[in-house]
Amino acid sequence: MAADRFSNLLSTQALAIDPPRLREITLKVAAVNGINLGQGVCLLPVPEAVKRAAHRAIDAGINRYTNPRGLPELRKAIAEKLLRHNGLTVDPESELLITCGSTGAFEALCAAILNPGDEVVCFAPFYPYHRNTLRRFGAKISYVELQPPDWSFSMPALETAISPHTKLLLINTPANPTGKVFTAEELNCIGELAARHDVLVVTDEIYEYMTYDGARHISPATIPSLRDRTITIGGYSKTFAITGWRIGYMALPAELSTVITPILDSIYICPPAPLQRAVADALSELGGEFYCRLAGEYRAKRDYFAAALREAGLKPFPTQGTYYMMADFSERFPQYNADEFVDHMIKTARVGAVPAADFVPESAGATWMRFCFAVPDEMLERAAENLKALR
Ligand code: PLP
Repeated sequence: MAADRFSNLLSTQALAIDPPRLREITLKVAAVNGINLGQGVCLLPVPEAVKRAAHRAIDAGINRYTNPRGLPELRKAIAEKLLRHNGLTVDPESELLITCGSTGAFEALCAAILNPGDEVVCFAPFYPYHRNTLRRFGAKISYVELQPPDWSFSMPALETAISPHTKLLLINTPANPTGKVFTAEELNCIGELAARHDVLVVTDEIYEYMTYDGARHISPATIPSLRDRTITIGGYSKTFAITGWRIGYMALPAELSTVITPILDSIYICPPAPLQRAVADALSELGGEFYCRLAGEYRAKRDYFAAALREAGLKPFPTQGTYYMMADFSERFPQYNADEFVDHMIKTARVGAVPAADFVPESAGATWMRFCFAVPDEMLERAAENLKALR
């Protein structure tokens, strides 16, 4: 209604945003008192060390604006973690910025480099916020298809997608929604192409700690040909289950950091000060075993839920990373498209998922949906029980 009333006032940026199916699904699932495994929020508890650190920071009076680049102690802690976990050497003074979530980092990067008509190469299925942001900046997106079941892609297709107008190539590893973890071989080839065509690479690594079955997270910026042309984006929304805190970061060449700092300053000045400090403290408090346990807990949830989907006659694709699972329904339910099937599943089994249309450019024919398994075991068990009613 509001959009109708103000439609002649709306900017091209506002009009570029696709309303996600997810919102509709959430309402439909609530209407049947069902279980929503569509939404990508993590419903698991926040580690005690993280919560305690936030209380301490507020009590210690860390409640004012910080430097727009972020609190020095958080930059230092993240630079240490980037070296330890990712093998990336980053100068916390000149090559690291703290942002309002990884979303804030991607927004600022796009603001810094994209003019309307600039081209960006994106793998599909993609994370819909990436597409919405790119569209708001007027970017022309060239998609490179990831093919199930292993979500591999063709290098010639990638090279064809790159044109003289391409400024940016977007990687998300581990990837939402496919769970794909890019291999060293793939990243080396991407590096070779990016260098040959002189394009920047942005990599969203928000699910870096959630990898399974020996799949190893590799930060693209560790590939020598990508080191000086890559912006590495990450954050703590998922790792610490604090999606509402809005703490993310970007590691990037110093020249770009100088350009992006005043952009961050002008968008929101700084991320929440006490929460920056809390994440810095938690990073030094939580040891390697925390991250191992995290991956182990998610792997168990993934295995349990994949079995439940199979039992319900659906076909889950192997998930190497993230806390999402894509599944195909077409063998048992060939009569439906993805939107229709998700509606049907909500009605008969009272379980919600996100249909393919949110993740692929041309959804016709895509018989997939995405489930999020970052929920308590008891909720996954109820979902598994409900799915038995699917017919
Ligand atoms: N990037 C990807 C691939 C995501 O799936 C999400 C959340 O679902 C985000 C970024 C958002 O991260 P943040 O909370 O750090 O902005």
